[in-house]
Amino acid sequence: MPEWSQAHAQLPLIFERSRAGRRASQPPAPEQADLSALLGAENLRQAPPRLPEVSELDLVRHYTQLAHRQMSIDANIYPLGSCTMKYNPKVNEEAAKLFQDLHPYQAEETVQGALQLLFELQGDLATITGMDAVSLQPAAGAHGELAGILMIRAYHRARGEGEQRRIVLVPDGAHGTNPATAAMAGYAVVEVPTGPDGEVDLAALKARLTPEVAAVMLTNPNTLGLFERRIVEIAAAAHAVGAQLYYDGANLNAIVGRARPGDMGFDVVHLNLHKTFTTPHGGGGPGTGPVGVKAHLREFLPVPVVAKDGERYYLDEDVPNTIGRMRSFYGNFGNLVRAYTYIRALGREGLREVSGYAVLNANYLRMRFKELGFTVPFDRVNMHEFVAQPPAGLRTLDIAKAQLDHGMHPATVYFPLIVKEALMVEPTETESLESLDAYVETLAEILERAAADPAYLRGAPYSTPVRRLDEVRAARQPVLRYAFEG
Ligand SMILES: *Cc1c(COP(=O)(O)O)cnc(C)c1O
Repeated sequence: MPEWSQAHAQLPLIFERSRAGRRASQPPAPEQADLSALLGAENLRQAPPRLPEVSELDLVRHYTQLAHRQMSIDANIYPLGSCTMKYNPKVNEEAAKLFQDLHPYQAEETVQGALQLLFELQGDLATITGMDAVSLQPAAGAHGELAGILMIRAYHRARGEGEQRRIVLVPDGAHGTNPATAAMAGYAVVEVPTGPDGEVDLAALKARLTPEVAAVMLTNPNTLGLFERRIVEIAAAAHAVGAQLYYDGANLNAIVGRARPGDMGFDVVHLNLHKTFTTPHGGGGPGTGPVGVKAHLREFLPVPVVAKDGERYYLDEDVPNTIGRMRSFYGNFGNLVRAYTYIRALGREGLREVSGYAVLNANYLRMRFKELGFTVPFDRVNMHEFVAQPPAGLRTLDIAKAQLDHGMHPATVYFPLIVKEALMVEPTETESLESLDAYVETLAEILERAAADPAYLRGAPYSTPVRRLDEVRAARQPVLRYAFEG
């Protein structure tokens, strides 16, 4: 039996706690109806389902113990580069709860408050990013990217250049969703190399900028955590050949309240509300990825957009050349309430402090990582995250696994792809100095122990319910349900 399934088998799952006849509660017996007439005899169970029979206390312990096996921002430091795992303030949840009884099919005049909130959030996000209009529709960063690139495609088509423009330029350090998005929208992806200073190689970019290019997708700061200092020149070069500049807003935490993609020359942005704006990251959802555009792209926004007529708020489906709907109703409403709450609680000055502390914390950690013997390949003042490499002879994966034994989530590993053995660290502004120091001290302990006993690192983690997985198999053939013996 492989190691992971052995460990899996040892979990005290709820089926093992089961004892015949034990119950958490006793629902009233159903009224006897002729179920076979109602449902069809062939649809009735012949035998009761095999469910665990447990007390309420067993049930509560089962789920609580499962919850404790998770790493989460509420329990552990989680400096996962590029993902901005910052604290999700509990007041956001209170605010979202205020709206829990609304139904998306309610008449507009009965949900004016909710629409006002969405309208104001559109405005806030437009102000924060320097864009002219926002749609709150998309359900994730990647989904926002798709909306953005589809708008750019619609824009070129409307100008009669749809056929001619078939290329999207993407830097070699880009997040995988960028080339995936471009390909999904039917474009050929051409890579732009990173220069020796860790920024987009401007000469290489210019050489690739032809009238065939529909868009250039960038994030700033880039995936090395470095600010693209030539961004204004890049924007001018892209616009000179008629291409649009797309801003991947996943790294907005570094500049929020201080600099705006709209002012840098970007035409479209998406935002990850679960990164910069403290809505929860869920296992694949519920994300929210609003898109913002400059005025010339407003007519292509996904619908509906929340609009205001006099004192009345309404859902505007009448966007002349809309790319259509990206999601049901008006987007992921609960998260939009959370993000609105965060923005309004912090205000202009508060948001500015967010990026200040995010950058300060990351630079502090960069210096401390260097003391520990890590290499920082592009070693200059970074933004909200930095990329490091482990001391000679050590593997990033092994260090990351060892950190789990200490209740600390590792950094992002092996990304960006342009740095060997990369470790991408993003502490965020919500960690205190003490918690950053504890992170570094734990790393120091791990390195010391590895030096004394080289086999130790290769064997980590030792304390987790599941140890080293075949990660490809775990992703492709996950075993998600309990299998009965025999
Ligand atoms: C997280 C991230 C994305 C994708 O966003 P999702 O919300 O996870 O779909 C895109 N680009 C970068 C740089 C990211 O960090």
